[in-house]
Amino acid sequence: MASTKSAPNWDLRTDTATKPSPEMFQHMAQAEVGNDVFGEDPTVNKLEKRVAELLGKPAAVFVASSTMSNQIAVRTHLRNPPETVLCHSHAHIYRHEAGGISFHSQAMVVPVTPANGPNLTVDDVKREFIEDDGDFHCAPTRLIALENTFTGVVMPIEDIREIRKFANEKGIPVHMDGARLWNASVASGLSLADYAKEVDSVNLCLSKGMGCPVGAILAGSEEFIQKARHYRKLFGGGWRQAGVLAAAGLFSIDHIWPTMAKTHEQTKRLADGLSELGFKPILPVETNIILIDPSEAKVDWGELTKQLAKHGVNMDTVYGGTIRIVLHNQIDDACVDLVLSVAKGMTEN
Ligand SMILES: *Cc1c(COP(=O)(O)O)cnc(C)c1O
Repeated sequence: MASTKSAPNWDLRTDTATKPSPEMFQHMAQAEVGNDVFGEDPTVNKLEKRVAELLGKPAAVFVASSTMSNQIAVRTHLRNPPETVLCHSHAHIYRHEAGGISFHSQAMVVPVTPANGPNLTVDDVKREFIEDDGDFHCAPTRLIALENTFTGVVMPIEDIREIRKFANEKGIPVHMDGARLWNASVASGLSLADYAKEVDSVNLCLSKGMGCPVGAILAGSEEFIQKARHYRKLFGGGWRQAGVLAAAGLFSIDHIWPTMAKTHEQTKRLADGLSELGFKPILPVETNIILIDPSEAKVDWGELTKQLAKHGVNMDTVYGGTIRIVLHNQIDDACVDLVLSVAKGMTEN
């Protein structure tokens, strides 16, 4: 069996950094498998059913990645250009999926910067919404896509409900990129189903905070998922004995999801400690992500990451002047203590 344990080696750059634990591998190795393209993989079927139930949706399909899940969702919702997807100007489906919406769905994106705070509100949506009013200069808005959490910030359920209500008035669907909806649910105390109820389709990632090596789930109505399966095949995402991967997903729901509250506590503790050293939080720290501005800190960021690297901590995460630190289930209290003590030590020299 592949070894996943080595000397202390903490990766705080992303929650995709996790490696399957020996226990997860064990689960994968013991999975009952079949041909999923024929619908005959019992473990995939079990995972899809389990997640659909958690979301309160009639059906779900297991796919290779959240990018695939979101892009299949958009393609399944849209089918008649010219049309527009309305989403956050920094939404993953718009910025970080290689322009997939234009490529796969021939749709334009209207990227919307929220007027206040990190998340879209119904006022933002109303302001940028393109009516289907016969004006053939325009590409009407035919889908609203939300992201929850957005960079670790939980989207308030009231805002989601108001956007849902508006979308209903306009007769258009809402998709939620809930790659980290697991985190949102843990942080807010609302169930996955409370969120999913407000949207037509939802993506959940298994390879972020859930710690799986591969996988995402797309859920929606029976009819929607039937069509999504068709697109999954078209995208080259029909897979065979995928139960080995679905087993990791089932393991993560039972054994990793319950540790997420602890990860959020550790994130808050790390953010508070760094804030005392002058690292200013840019977004509220509500789940597992810290975004900070290092410009007025008492410690030089480059020097700090160099020191931490010597201790087996990889925190080299500056993007355009902003630091993004992400915690997950393979970060422990010892790592948080170490980062804070090394950082504090540097202020004393
Ligand atoms: C990471 C991420 C994705 C894409 O996930 P992959 O599995 O890497 O394709 C989509 N949406 C959000 C919000 C993400 O954070």
